[in-house]
Amino acid sequence: MPLLVMKFGGTSVANLDRIANAARKVQEETARGYSVIVIVSAMSGKTNELVGWVEGTSKLYDTKEYDAIVSSGENVTAGLLALRLQEMGIGARSWQGWQVPINTTDAHSTARFVSIPRENIDTDFAGGNKVAVVAGFQGVTEAGRITTLGRGGSDTTAVAFAAAFEAERCDIYTDVDGVYTTDPRIVSKARKMEKIAFEEMLELASLGAKVLQTRSVELAMRYKVRLRVLSSFEDTDETSGTLVCDEEEIMESKVVSGVAFSRDEAKMTLVRVEDRPGVAAAIFGPLADAQVNVDMIVQNISEKVAGDTKLYTDMTFSLPVNQVERAKKALEDSRASGAVTYAELITDTETAKVSVVGIGMRSQVGVAAKMFAALAAENINIKVITTSEIKISVLIDRKYMELAVQTLHDTFDLEQA
Ligand code: ADP
Ligand code: ASP
Ligand code: MG
Repeated sequence: MPLLVMKFGGTSVANLDRIANAARKVQEETARGYSVIVIVSAMSGKTNELVGWVEGTSKLYDTKEYDAIVSSGENVTAGLLALRLQEMGIGARSWQGWQVPINTTDAHSTARFVSIPRENIDTDFAGGNKVAVVAGFQGVTEAGRITTLGRGGSDTTAVAFAAAFEAERCDIYTDVDGVYTTDPRIVSKARKMEKIAFEEMLELASLGAKVLQTRSVELAMRYKVRLRVLSSFEDTDETSGTLVCDEEEIMESKVVSGVAFSRDEAKMTLVRVEDRPGVAAAIFGPLADAQVNVDMIVQNISEKVAGDTKLYTDMTFSLPVNQVERAKKALEDSRASGAVTYAELITDTETAKVSVVGIGMRSQVGVAAKMFAALAAENINIKVITTSEIKISVLIDRKYMELAVQTLHDTFDLEQA
C-alpha cells in the first residue's frame, strides 16, 4: 500500500479542535488509499513551557533529564491524535520514540538519528492499522535514555521516516501555506514560491527561516525525499503549498530567491590578539569545546605596537546571543591559562544577521554591491560580512533588521515571480 508521511507542527495541534482538524486531513489521505505515518509536535507553547521549568529548577541542568522532560509534549499530542482517529473509525495508535524505536546518538538535546527500524510499524500496519502517530522531536539511545533532536526537530523526524519507509511524499503541515520569499510575518508583500531548490531551502533554513529545521532539508536532499510545506488551516490537494525539490525541476529562477534573518545574534571582538600561527585555533578550539556555535569570523590586518616586536590583530566573530556567557567564560579561561592573550573583549548583544540567498548568484556578479548599496541608502551600517557561492550575509544593528529585510526584498524585486 502506498505510504505518506504527514507532519503537524505546534500551532496545527494547539488544541482539541485543531487536533480534530489534523485528523480530518489524515482521513482524506487514508480515504485515498494511503497508509499514513503522522509526526506530531507538542501543542504550541508547550515545549517552551517545559524548557522554562527545566531552567527554573536547575541552571546547569543535566541534558538527559532535560530530554526526558522536554520530549513529553509530543507524547501527549501523539496519544490525542491517535484517540481522535479511533473515534473516527480509523485504525491508529501512537508511538513514542523508544517504541519504534527511533535510535539516536547520545548527544542529549541535539541528538542525531542512527537508525529507524521499520519492523514494529510494518507489523502494526500488517495487523490492520492504517495510521501510525509518532511523537516527533525524540529518540532513544543505545543505553535506553530518551533524547531530543534540537528545537524544530519534528521536521527532521518527518523526513527521516519518509526516507526510512520510502514514502511517496513528506507533507509538512504548518501555519503558513508554503515557503515564502521571506517570513510573511515581517514582509506582507512576501510571495509564496511554488517550488524551491534543496540548496536554497538549506541556506534559508540555516540562516534563520524556521519554517523547516535545517537538518530536515539536509536529509531530504540526501535521500531524495519529496518534501512539501503546506497549510493545515486551508483545504489542500496534491498541488498545494511549496515543493522543495532538485534544482533541475525548477524551470527558471531569479538571482536572489529569498531573504532570511536571524534576530538574536551577538558580536564579540578580541582586541589586540597576538598574530602568530595557531592563534585562531587557540581561540576557536575552546569555544567549540564549550559548545559555542561561532558563525561569521573576521580577522583584521596585523599591526605593530610601539616598543614591541610582536604583531597584533583584532578578531571578531558572531554567535547566538544566548551563548555569550559561555563564550566569555571559555575565552577568559583560555586567557588565564596563557593559551591566548588579548587586551580587551568587546561584546555587542544587539545585532541581527540578514542574508540573501539564490542559486542564480553562482553565475551573476554584482549581487553583493547591489545589496550593500541598498543598505547604505537606508543608512544601515554593516558590521560583518560573509559570503558563499549562493548567499551573502551581513551583521547589522538589531533595530534595523526589519527595515533591512524589507529593503532587500524590494531591491531584488522578490514580490514579482
Ligand atoms: P511549526 O510549529 O508548524 O513547526 P514554525 O513556527 O516552526 O511552525 O514555522 C512556521 C513559521 O516560519 C511561519 O509561521 C513563519 O513565521 C516562519 N517563517 C520564517 N521564514 C519563512 C519563510 N521564508 N516562508 C514561510 N514561513 C517562514
Ligand atoms: N516541539 C519541539 C519544539 O518546539 C519540536 C518541534 O515542534 O518541531 O522545538
Ligand atoms: Mg517548526
